[in-house]
Amino acid sequence: MHEIASRKGLELDRESLKIQIIRTGKSRPVSSRVRSPKIKDEADIYPMLHMQYVAPELREDEGEIEAALRKTLPEDLVTLADIQGMVHCHTTYSDGKHSIEQMARAAEAMGMKYLTITDHSPTAFYAGGLKLDRLQRQWEEIDETQQKVKIKLYKGTESDILSDGKLDYPDRVLEQFDLVIASIHSRYKMNADKMTKCLVTAMQQPIFKIWGHALGRLIQRRPPFECDVERVLDVIAESRAAIEVNGDPYRLDMEPRWIREARKRKIKFVISVDAHSAGALNNLKYGVAMARRGWLRQDEVLNTLEAKAFAKAVQPA
Ligand SMILES: [Zn+2]
Ligand SMILES: [Zn+2]
Repeated sequence: MHEIASRKGLELDRESLKIQIIRTGKSRPVSSRVRSPKIKDEADIYPMLHMQYVAPELREDEGEIEAALRKTLPEDLVTLADIQGMVHCHTTYSDGKHSIEQMARAAEAMGMKYLTITDHSPTAFYAGGLKLDRLQRQWEEIDETQQKVKIKLYKGTESDILSDGKLDYPDRVLEQFDLVIASIHSRYKMNADKMTKCLVTAMQQPIFKIWGHALGRLIQRRPPFECDVERVLDVIAESRAAIEVNGDPYRLDMEPRWIREARKRKIKFVISVDAHSAGALNNLKYGVAMARRGWLRQDEVLNTLEAKAFAKAVQPA
């Protein structure tokens, strides 16, 4: 921006947010420097340089300056206020700290219109994955809780992607959920070819599913696993699937560069919290920030929809 300003005969003072005219013609310097009275904050500088405002999350030298000059930056980047419902929440039925009702009341207090309960599937036995009898009990409890709260509760699952790419739970069960998140929880060291095949098979399953914490990284603990991400994105673009932007501060998956790749393919997203406690619902802001770094627009994020439209968009069967 400093360079753009000087090409226009202006000098952008980074310290004090001033723009000064340094030349009026090609060579003649202005003797008394003119201080612009219009600049109140940095957002005022962009139009003076004939650019769109560049939101802080976009400032990664990934083409945002060029886009702002061409005026092709999205004006409707998703915001925290756009999010209507919580996606991907665990309860005491699997490895969460709080009950269905506690999670529901916490999300309601935040002004959310819906909450998807997505405890683990049986293969994630170490995380208390729900076998069918407990799943039945959970659905009953969700129905009971729904009588007590205003927020709409949806019955979901975080289904493990199995080694052959199938999803956990038989199809007849998966079809009954309101929402299915499909996640890798083991075999992180599988070779890239095998992992790609596994994900492709998973994403090609006929039910609608959301690819949960896509590349499995845990910041400071585990790098993203190896796979051909672009191939998987190509498949998702042709399948009944969406991708999660995970707001857990240790995950923040997927990375902005992959979000941008997915956007090129017109793939839809959800911004999730992957909450294992009521307090973790507050991680939504990190998910939104990651989504914005990937240039996600409001209408590309399914949980900006009203409850009924959201349910229709993610309906598995
Ligand atoms: Zn998970
Ligand atoms: Zn989870």
